[in-house]
Amino acid sequence: MLLPGHIAAPYLLSRVFRWIDFRFALAGAVFPDLLDKPLAWIFHLTPHGRWIGHSLTGLAATTLIVWLIFRRRAPLAVVSWLAGYGVHLILDAGNFMPWFFPWVSYEWPKYTGFRWQYFPITSTAEIILSIIAAVWLIISWRRHSRPMN
Ligand SMILES: [Zn+2]
Repeated sequence: MLLPGHIAAPYLLSRVFRWIDFRFALAGAVFPDLLDKPLAWIFHLTPHGRWIGHSLTGLAATTLIVWLIFRRRAPLAVVSWLAGYGVHLILDAGNFMPWFFPWVSYEWPKYTGFRWQYFPITSTAEIILSIIAAVWLIISWRRHSRPMN
């Protein structure tokens, strides 16, 4: 999924489930791409743009770290992070995902450089989520931009 979808998803989650802290959900929702894409595309250190950040190991390890850091100051941080991160993995699931890396060896799809055709809108979930997010954002924006009396 593209970045706007990964930002819209935690926003929608935090609107539906009011106890979700949007800041932590957003951080969790963008973290897998912020970790894996630069490692593969800029630094060429990993075999693919979906690496450990796109695995259940990455989800578990970072959730543990968030829990260790924020468990006293922000008790809902860990659940919000988990929700944001989890929804990222679910939204990416239409394509290659190394779910069980590094415990299972994967045949990494070959990456031959950045091309726009790698980013078609491929999943129905992405289309539906984008439409819902757009409608929701427009409604929220209109509601917040009304003049106060
Ligand atoms: Zn991703």
